[in-house]
Amino acid sequence: MNKYSIGIDLGGTKILTAIVDNTTGEVLCYTKIKTKRNKSEEKIIRKIIKSIKEVLNEAQKDISEIDSIGIGAAGQTNREKGIIINAPNIGIENLNIKEILEKEFNKTVFLGNDVEVAAVAEILFGGGKDEKDFICIFVGTGVGSCIVQDGKIRHGATGNAGEIGHIIIEYNGRKCGCGANGCLEAYASRLAIEKRIIEELNKGMKSDITNYIKENKPIKTAMLRKALSNNDETTRLILDEASSYLATGIASIINFYNPSKIVLGGGLINGIDYFYERTIELTKERTLKIASSGTKFDRARLGDFAGAIGAAMIKEYRTNFS
Ligand SMILES: [Zn+2]
Repeated sequence: MNKYSIGIDLGGTKILTAIVDNTTGEVLCYTKIKTKRNKSEEKIIRKIIKSIKEVLNEAQKDISEIDSIGIGAAGQTNREKGIIINAPNIGIENLNIKEILEKEFNKTVFLGNDVEVAAVAEILFGGGKDEKDFICIFVGTGVGSCIVQDGKIRHGATGNAGEIGHIIIEYNGRKCGCGANGCLEAYASRLAIEKRIIEELNKGMKSDITNYIKENKPIKTAMLRKALSNNDETTRLILDEASSYLATGIASIINFYNPSKIVLGGGLINGIDYFYERTIELTKERTLKIASSGTKFDRARLGDFAGAIGAAMIKEYRTNFS
């Protein structure tokens, strides 16, 4: 086995490609290419290929020195066949990325979804390293999770286990992107928070956040953090509301699964300490004491590189752990 692998974090707004040390998870070098909305599939493929060539060039390495290539894509994937089935935020449907990249680079290519690969990184090098039964929960644009049982990721009967974003917390609640009502994601994701802030502003609530919002641009986590540090009441109110819902969801998961640890990551958790701390506090209040007495809480440790590191490690994980 070669010492280095390539990991690609294929998201809705960027392609982050890194050369990763297989033994330590360390990122040797990386490149980040922004992608625009409504881009064509061919353009995305070209950009992925370009990013691999760029990162090799920068590291002054030849593809023959690379062990494998892994991709974590934000969407539904067929991991065996290497097909990205449906990734609406990237603009890809039924794309056999494994076949395309294997032909281009003559290297074995592995595919997983974004949550799964971030969990692989946490299992091998992060907060899940010494744990057997734990759950990774990522709160950002959406809300996703990964169940690890006996050190192995559980995919479920159809590969969809861990969809914590779509557990229903209000049966008559807000419409979710999946078509159902009252899903956790419709209350606790960054998109949900953004919607609620705009709703309150339209009702005439004053907020410091209006100083940072740009028309037709998303409300980013950094804006929420800034408004919060300026003691903005509206932002605090809505973050409190979102963390209450998130805690309700996590508490139910703890009661049901009795994990030894909950590893929390994603933009909102990494970016806003207050949000993370309040969520933990409320979660502890809402669980059965007997179920939560053995549960530790931790933040995901690999931050923005978790996706790329985990993608690079898919081969290692699937060979030796699953
Ligand atoms: Zn849903």
